[in-house]
Amino acid sequence: MKKDQSKYAVIVAAAIAIGIVFVAYGLAFGIFTTSIPVIDGIICENEMFSYHIHAHLDIFVNEYPSPVPAAIGIVVQNHCFYWLHTHKSDGIIHIEPPTVKQFTLGQFFDVWRSSNTLSPPSQEEPIIYVNGQLASTKLKDTPLRSHDEIVLVYGSPPFLQYPNSINSLKVYDKF
Ligand SMILES: [Zn+2]
Repeated sequence: MKKDQSKYAVIVAAAIAIGIVFVAYGLAFGIFTTSIPVIDGIICENEMFSYHIHAHLDIFVNEYPSPVPAAIGIVVQNHCFYWLHTHKSDGIIHIEPPTVKQFTLGQFFDVWRSSNTLSPPSQEEPIIYVNGQLASTKLKDTPLRSHDEIVLVYGSPPFLQYPNSINSLKVYDKF
């Protein structure tokens, strides 16, 4: 009986010790203080400005423009910016990873769905134009390149000339 009790005490002491180590490790590595998820490989952190390019997105849904909302990928309470984000509802996608990386429209949409209360228009695949050319890619493999003008068409197409370039993006560039 006594032997069983001491065995029990050892198990409890070991469990407490493991608990203390786990909490200390968690505090040291920010496990309990960070609640900002990584979205499709995109991290939310302070704006870097070391690499900073822009693409422009126009979306049409059943003939009408559908705005790309402001503050996609910006988590105000944590003062962090996902590497792909918008500042205003001007359709400009800011692409700001700490080092040169290639991203896709699909990754931007994943950040949009996870970080903004206004959702993208639809789960269906749109028709995609890049710089005035019909693209053969889907959202997930359409690259986001500097100064790309991207048009997404959901449902009936609009009766107008799609935007095919945007020079105003140059004023945003840091280099
Ligand atoms: Zn920017």
